[in-house]
Amino acid sequence: MRRSLVAGNWKMHGRSSNAARLAAGVRDGLPAECGAEVVLCPPFPHLPVAADRLEGGRVRLGAQDVCEREDGAHTGEVSAEMLVDAGCAFVIVGHSERRSLYGETDDVVARKYLRARQAGLTPILCLGESLGEREAGSTRRVVERQLTAVAEHCGEEAFRSGVVAYEPVWAIGTGRTATPEQAQDVHAFIRSLLSARWGELASGVRILYGGSVKAGNAERLFSMPDVDGGLIGGASLDADEFIRICALSG
Ligand code: PEP
Repeated sequence: MRRSLVAGNWKMHGRSSNAARLAAGVRDGLPAECGAEVVLCPPFPHLPVAADRLEGGRVRLGAQDVCEREDGAHTGEVSAEMLVDAGCAFVIVGHSERRSLYGETDDVVARKYLRARQAGLTPILCLGESLGEREAGSTRRVVERQLTAVAEHCGEEAFRSGVVAYEPVWAIGTGRTATPEQAQDVHAFIRSLLSARWGELASGVRILYGGSVKAGNAERLFSMPDVDGGLIGGASLDADEFIRICALSG
């Protein structure tokens, strides 16, 4: 039985005062009966204030990106060990904004995933096709290519208890959500790829859906058998809305 997971990706929003309020709001508002694992991913400078507000509670801390290299002369980068030191347990890797705006290739994403794992973080690996790719009927080919790059570079151990987020690019920040059936179809495909490679391990991998999830559409998405929670962007900037989504996930 997979425990559902809901992660909030705050992206490049807010100041430390907002981060403090938002983290405390989620910490205090999460209903005791919510069984989901809940993670907040603030921008790097807000990790300390969020860590302070979440300390000792059940909401976990994550980052939005990590350097694929070890500590050293890499100006502007943040290492996996630094994230652990800042209190992170999770890190998002391969978000489509990193891939499209900052040129992250499948190879770089794979190296980030492995570095995160080696440091003891749980990477949330984002995959997903663009609108053009979906319309061209290439969704499965794209998702398979992105997943295979990481699977081959990182190997079975790195995927044990792994987290994958299917995020169709056309649904991110657009208000246009995949239907529950579209999400289930790709999630089942991702699980079948993992199963073909590693058998039983696939049943323990949590596959999150991301792309314009709101409290109003979360329940149907989360009811799909291979949807194990969500990666939430815009709606995670409102504590009440985010908590409602978490409560719907399990
Ligand atoms: C995201 O950025 O990962 C995301 C899913 O964003 P939104 O929920 O705003 O579509």
